[in-house]
Amino acid sequence: MSTNSRKAELSANLERVRERIARAAAGRPAEPELIVVTKFFPASDVALLHDLGVRDVGENRDQEAAAKAAELAGRGLRWHFIGQLQTNKAKSVVQYADLLHSVDRPQLIQALRKAMAAEQQRRQAAGLEPRADLGCLIQVDLDESDLPKAAGTAARGGARPGEIRALADALQEAEGLAPAGLMAVAPLGADPARAFGRLAELSHRLKEEHPGAGMVSAGMSQDLEAAVAAGATHLRVGSDVLGPRPAVR
Ligand SMILES: *Cc1c(COP(=O)(O)O)cnc(C)c1O
Repeated sequence: MSTNSRKAELSANLERVRERIARAAAGRPAEPELIVVTKFFPASDVALLHDLGVRDVGENRDQEAAAKAAELAGRGLRWHFIGQLQTNKAKSVVQYADLLHSVDRPQLIQALRKAMAAEQQRRQAAGLEPRADLGCLIQVDLDESDLPKAAGTAARGGARPGEIRALADALQEAEGLAPAGLMAVAPLGADPARAFGRLAELSHRLKEEHPGAGMVSAGMSQDLEAAVAAGATHLRVGSDVLGPRPAVR
């Protein structure tokens, strides 16, 4: 596909998504921010989205995200890391990510704290400005089913609601990190309105202790309307802007 027709396609998709958000947000105090999830798609698409006014992009794999962020440096894009993060990737992620949506365990917070300290030293040694604190959202597992999860094998879908408070306190204490809010994916087969309503309640409680942690990252292509209705502040939309992703890679 030529660059021009790809740009026209992205523009039309983006407009449709923005209209859906505006319709869903009618009568609400504020419209949520759109983060366009560009995983699986090339940096050239991110550049076209930037031309179309997109500034917030989401990625879920460090290697892919780091390469795109390096290629598109200097354009004022904000990189949201939305995927599960292994502790050994913390050092790389803090070099480009503005916000991390997937904090789910104390060990990751410790790895990020060390990585931030090393990153500030690296910048100082290179004569660069220090970076801003890394805003961290706690990913919450909203699955209410009692099915046992295979210990240690299945990919974690986030922290349990009862773990939020301790994780937020740990983020507050960790130099270079700041608790920014909550993130969730509606559990498969669950009613997204109910799941996002629960997330809103948890956010309300978190803000009593951490007033700066007001982000609520919820809603994807399929369920963005339910997320807006429940008061999400940030939506993560991929396929309805970029098109279908390959199923496997
Ligand atoms: C891929 C992804 C999205 C975007 O999903 P779409 O259905 O393509 O809109 C949102 N959030 C997370 C955590 C993702 O991994």
